[in-house]
Parts: sequence; structure tokens; C-alpha cells
Amino acid sequence: MPDCPPPSFDPLRLAVQQWNVGALAAQTLWTRGLGSEAVAASARQRWVRLAHHARTHSPFYRKRWRHLPAGALAPADVPVVTKDELMASFDDWCTDRAIAWRDVAAFLAARAHIGERFLGKYLVWTSSGTSGRPGVFVQDDAALAAYDAVVSVQLGGATLAGCDWTAAIGHGGRAALVAADCDHFASIVSWRRVARGKPWLAMTSFAVTLPVGAIVAGLNAYQPAFLAGYPTVLALLAAEQRAGRLAIRPAALWAGGEVLSPAARAAIEQAFGCPLVNEYGASECLTIGYGCPAGWLHVNADWVLLEPVDADGRATPPGELSHTVLVTNLANAVQPVIRYDLGDRVRVAPARCPCGDPLPAIQVEGRCDDVLALAARDGTLVRLVPLALATVVETQARLHRFQIVQRGADRVQLRLAAADRARAGAQAVAALRGYFARQGLANVRVTLARDEPQLDPRDGKLRQVVGRKGSDP
Ligand SMILES: [Zn+2]
Repeated sequence: MPDCPPPSFDPLRLAVQQWNVGALAAQTLWTRGLGSEAVAASARQRWVRLAHHARTHSPFYRKRWRHLPAGALAPADVPVVTKDELMASFDDWCTDRAIAWRDVAAFLAARAHIGERFLGKYLVWTSSGTSGRPGVFVQDDAALAAYDAVVSVQLGGATLAGCDWTAAIGHGGRAALVAADCDHFASIVSWRRVARGKPWLAMTSFAVTLPVGAIVAGLNAYQPAFLAGYPTVLALLAAEQRAGRLAIRPAALWAGGEVLSPAARAAIEQAFGCPLVNEYGASECLTIGYGCPAGWLHVNADWVLLEPVDADGRATPPGELSHTVLVTNLANAVQPVIRYDLGDRVRVAPARCPCGDPLPAIQVEGRCDDVLALAARDGTLVRLVPLALATVVETQARLHRFQIVQRGADRVQLRLAAADRARAGAQAVAALRGYFARQGLANVRVTLARDEPQLDPRDGKLRQVVGRKGSDP
């Protein structure tokens, strides 16, 4: 139910941050107003600073780039990095020698620390990777100010021009987030950071693993003016709103973390009668781009370098779907993410977007898991969002490579790698059974499959949650 983190309010730090965010937002707006060449020039300046900083202060990059010529480097000169490589050299990756993996791991081990500052100055969050170990990302104040500035520019943009601000004020400007809150994930960490730093704001969050009825009851009681969540969560809540069980009148919605199709976006906006801001981001780079009314995502090209590439690392031409995308986060200096293989498949628009936004437009084929519709004992269908299912397995069984497959109206199988099956299979099955029971689905049979997680033949990616055809809402 609604949670209110104890405020840790530091007026001086807040004043400095507010000043930085305001200045950066004004600068970002100004640069973008000058057009795409000014945006590219701004990115080049930030790239030069970041590359120099990484080479000077990160032993990892110094070593990886030792064969490169001294002096200024172009992005294409430097080698691609992966999460496994960076995590294996965590201490050397960071540019502040005071950051040690041992201390970060101890900090992350306590849930009470979610949204608090590590070493009194850094924010830390962890990603829920679909393969290998999860990534852990340390953010400095400059990066947080840049993310806030970019979001405030987006909120002032065209999408929210028609927003019903009278309704928002009438609802006390209350904001609610529905997200995975049981670990240090980026969305809940960012949310709690704002809530702790600005205790006068009315903000609350609901765990995505709660039964839908409990989330609906909580939102009905809270009546948020702003509602944020994963697209599949918002789609589920839109269905509840259409059915009349949920009755809220938000002024704006925010979605991120998963791919949002234009059809799903339209259905959600129609159900709630307000605009939806769609954000494309990742734990590695919190704000990569944002959705536009024409259905494209525009890259924050002044703060992020995004390079779609083929399987051999060559640039993918506009209009074609890439094999993966390399991301460089130009905002964060404490733990540089430079030409990082993000894994998303991206298509760059071959021409300027019809919406008129000069920033490059892309489409992303990212996480694309299914919503499961399972039958309770009395035949009622209960819909479960993939994020909730994945969170249960990841946090309770500490597994990251798995696949939940619906096999029948009330049957689910869990696919694990052979080693994981022996080590944590029983624990994962018990965690899923417990979760289903809390959703009124104690009748659902959960078994361990004999086969391992299988990649989708269409794109070679691992889907964590696979439903039966036609089971999506
Ligand atoms: Zn556009």
C-alpha cells in the first residue's frame, strides 16, 4: 500500500540541485531550439570531456584504450564494452577511487537504502538483466541533474500541451508510481530520491507484485494527478478503468521500461482521457529518448550517443533494423558508460519525423514479454504483468536467466538452465506458487520444465514471460 519514505531533507543540496536542473533545462531547450547541428555540437563537446575523464580517472578505460593514440578520440575509435566486462572490473570502472564493490554490495543488500545516497553523494541502482549478472550503476549529481533537466523539457513539450492542469491541481498534484519496489531498480530509486529530497511533494508508490485489486483500491483512494508505470501495467489499469473498477482522473500518464505500441498508447490515453509521456530509457542511461505524437521516439541526442549496429558492429543504415545498439551516456562521469552494448534492436527514421521535432527519431524493439491471463478456480481470468512475474523470480530466487511459459488456462512451466534448476529451481517454483496464491490463483500448477530457456526464433532474444496466443488484454 502507499509508502512514505522518511524524508532526508537537505535544503542547501536541494537549492544547488534545483539551480543546476533549471540551468541545464534552459540550456537544453536553447540548444534544441537552434536545431540539429547545435545538438550535435553539444554532444561532441560532452563526448570530448567524458572520454578525457574516463581515460584519466577510470583504470578500466585507461587499460582498454591503451593501444589508442593520445589526444582526442572519436566515438568510433573506442572499443565496444559489455555489462559482464564492466561488472567484472567494477572498482576499476568507476572514476572515484573511494567506490569499492564490497561497499556497494553491502549498501544494496539493504532495502531500506533504496533512494538513499551511497557514500553520502551517489545514487545506485541495479538492472534486472535477462542474461548473466545484473548491472549496478552509480550516478553522480551532475547526471541526476541532467536526467531531471531532460525530463522537465519533455514535460513542457507538445505531448502535455493539452493536459488538464486544473484537474491536476484539484488532485493536489499527487503522483503515483506502480513499479517493482523490492530491489534497487532505477525507477523506484529515482522516485524515492525525489520523494525524500522534496518532502512537501505528494508522491507514493505501489508494488507491482500486489494483486491488481489492491493496486486499484489504492489508486482509487489516492486519486493521483500523475500516474507512472510500465506500459503493460498501464494497459492493465486502463482495462480496469474501462470496466469501472478503477475510477481515477489523472491529468497525465508516464510510461517507461518496456516497448509501448502506438495502439496500446492510444488505448491507454483513451481510457484515462489524458496524454501519456512515453520514455525510452535504461538503467545504463536513464533518459535515452521520449515518444512523440507521431509514434516515434526522439533521442536526447545532446545527452546520449546512440549507435545502431549490425552483428559485426557496423553502423546500420536508417530505415533498417539494427542487431543491437551502442549507448554512450554523456551525463554520468562517475561510472562512464561508453559504447555499451545495450542489446535493443533499433530502427532510425529515414526522414525527419512528421511531428517536426529535429531530434533523431527511432523505433525500438526492446523487452516484449506477454501479459499472462490465468484462470482462477471459479473460472475468472486474472491478468498478470510480466514485470511482476519476473521480479518474483529475480528477487526471491536470485535467478536472472529464466523463462515462464503458460501451458494451459491454469498451468505454467518454468524453464531454467540445468545448473540453476538444481541450485534454485525448487525455490523459484515456490516463489511463483506463493505469488499466484496471493493473486487468488492458488489452483495454478507450476512445474519445472526439462528444457532450458529458448530464444525467440524471430529475433534471437530471450523473452522472460511467454503467454498463450490471444491471451493479451
Ligand atoms: Zn516525432
